[in-house]
Amino acid sequence: METRHARYPFARDARRAVQEAGVDLVEVVREEDAVVERATQRVQNALTERDIGERVASDRIELLSYPVARVLVSLVDENVCTRYYAQAEANRAEERFRADFAAEAGRGVVTRTDLLREFDLADTVRALREGGFEADVATYLRLATSLRGDEWRLVNRPLDAGVVPVSEPELDTLLREAVQERVEDGLPLGVPDAIGDALDDPLAAIRETLADLDLTREIDTVVPDLFPPCMQHLLDAVQRGDHLPHHSRFALTAFLGNIGLSTDEIVELYEVNPGFGEEMTRYQTDHIQGESSPTEYTAPSCATMQAYGDCVNPDALCEHISHPLSYYEAKLDDAEDDDLEDWREERDTDEESADA
Ligand code: SF4
Repeated sequence: METRHARYPFARDARRAVQEAGVDLVEVVREEDAVVERATQRVQNALTERDIGERVASDRIELLSYPVARVLVSLVDENVCTRYYAQAEANRAEERFRADFAAEAGRGVVTRTDLLREFDLADTVRALREGGFEADVATYLRLATSLRGDEWRLVNRPLDAGVVPVSEPELDTLLREAVQERVEDGLPLGVPDAIGDALDDPLAAIRETLADLDLTREIDTVVPDLFPPCMQHLLDAVQRGDHLPHHSRFALTAFLGNIGLSTDEIVELYEVNPGFGEEMTRYQTDHIQGESSPTEYTAPSCATMQAYGDCVNPDALCEHISHPLSYYEAKLDDAEDDDLEDWREERDTDEESADA
């Protein structure tokens, strides 16, 4: 196993090197603590720092930690974890390949041409004689689709005969997207019990980090348009004046509290409901928020919501998450910063007019 494989573990020849070395993943996760440790660090760091952490000296440990990290992410099976992890791997790969491209001829580990071939882009992205590149529109759209910024929108690019010109740095950004796509490809993997059982401890540590992240990140942006379908449904029911059973009211109140609404704001939301009793609502909300109890309650998971019949209108994203808060967080992550700013401004204006 070579440095090149450890540096670009998602590449096909890295996977081949692992296969040719006859590595048995069951044995690795049972017996090679250093590999499992580095794999856990890859995922933990991705969640907390959006980075996979510093590489270890051994190429073997570094390379093998990549498939083990993908197994860990599969076991966690949370959309937000998979995405952060793939982004972190892609960010590190980009840092490395940009350094390789900038190195003196023959000194970089990979060239841009190598990566275009790696991702089967050699036929759809071509170098232009005058400098820069052109990409077939289908390839461009596939790789640019998640990129933020108006400059990536197809309407803002000169499109001629089905090809889109891209500069060298832009192509490198598209290559990073190709890495992310590769890392995410096939996740979550089906993990045999023999492997899953050996990873109980690191898995618990990652889940804890994920749970802390939900609490410490303090989602303080309230954008009802991005609420999961179940919470939108409950909120609509409250605002229509419907009577909500206790479990539904608990779920909505805890969710609103978890995303940053104060007791006053929650009480205000319930106020439109004719069945509303301010004192009881305030008491229940304070209790759920941990103001008058030792615990700040977390909104129920999707499994609990389903059990109580509160999981309503699940959509495609719901298939990849196991908690309404993860749904909301994923939506917030995907929303453009500009959109969030617009929503905040809209809310502030509404509040000012209500106060006037
Ligand atoms: S799957 Fe989860 S987030 Fe989606 S609607 Fe059901 S309970 Fe809500």
